[in-house]
Amino acid sequence: MSDNLTFNLTTSTPNIQTAEVLPDEAVQHERVIIIGSGPAGLTAALYTARAQLNPLVIAGHELGGQVSLTYEIENYPGFPEGLSGQELVELMKRQAERFGARIKMFSAVSEVDFSHGSPFTVKTDDNGVYLADTVIVTVGATPRHLNVPGEKELTGNGVSYCATCDGFFFRDKRVVVVGGGDSALEEALFLTRFASRVDIVHRRDQLRAGQMLQKRTFENEKIHFIWNTVVERINGSSGKVESVLLRNVETSEITEYPTDGVFIFIGHDPNSDLFDGQLERDAFGYVVTDREMRTNIDGVFAAGEIQDRVYRQVATSVGQGTAAAMSAERWLAAREG
Ligand code: NAP
Repeated sequence: MSDNLTFNLTTSTPNIQTAEVLPDEAVQHERVIIIGSGPAGLTAALYTARAQLNPLVIAGHELGGQVSLTYEIENYPGFPEGLSGQELVELMKRQAERFGARIKMFSAVSEVDFSHGSPFTVKTDDNGVYLADTVIVTVGATPRHLNVPGEKELTGNGVSYCATCDGFFFRDKRVVVVGGGDSALEEALFLTRFASRVDIVHRRDQLRAGQMLQKRTFENEKIHFIWNTVVERINGSSGKVESVLLRNVETSEITEYPTDGVFIFIGHDPNSDLFDGQLERDAFGYVVTDREMRTNIDGVFAAGEIQDRVYRQVATSVGQGTAAAMSAERWLAAREG
């Protein structure tokens, strides 16, 4: 690896206990770099910090990622009254920092090179260049798009993927929510705080969401369901949504349905393109790990939604972050004898 380095290695700091975050093109040598700052990443930071590994978390441009956009989390143990995603992320960050984790905010990883083995090269979009003995990848997933006409053009002008961010703008307005999973129902319930009417458009006549959420949704007077239906097009002018073109998948009937906003919650895709050709991925793009959160690259681990297509809960991401951190710690200890 070092044969190919063109940057100045003399600036790397062997004393890992006092390493600083360097802003520019200096190279910094870290024992553990955690990419991503969601529940998996911040938990991995907590565990590796407590193991005296002085981890550096490259947080991305939004601390907490997707979870920080969740209005209320009711199923994370230890918080019987529930709390917001932002609150939970802030608490996790503080806890990791208390034990020495360093969180590099407003910076995202732009390039990695795992091809030569440890130490791995990690570059950030603010010209940071790092060498890392181990890397824990926790970059999560991104909301899926419908890919229908009007969606892209009207995103931010009535089309949204985040009720917590944009619900406020729909006070006394009508909104359509697309999807039938936990996210769609949870966000539809949240939107009833503002909107006068919420129509959930679902492509089947059965919901994927959990029973408890279904019950709460059916009981809410503001929420209505449009079953067996897909959105074909989103119409708008002067920078705002005016209607959606709906198609009944059983009858093929097309209807133009007036609405002021469209909230899309139809699942997620893993943010794994950055690792294309380096980390093994499954047919859906999720990074493949074993039970110890090891990837196909010795010394690189992954945790959270980047590698979990099945559970995708805050609680499971936290568990996976724990396992990845412990595996990374053991991997370093074994290597260092
Ligand atoms: P999801 O469970 O995959 O549900 C996606 C929904 O969108 C499904 O109902 C699906 O329909 C529909 N859909 C997918 N592609 C579509 C398309 N192109 N057009 C129209 N509809 C489409 O995704 P999610 O709701 O984001 O949840 C993801 C994971 O996070 C799940 O494991 C969920 O349990 C978890 N989650 C948990 C909570 C919580 O516990 N508080 C909250 C949010 C999410 P079909 O049903 O027909 O496939």
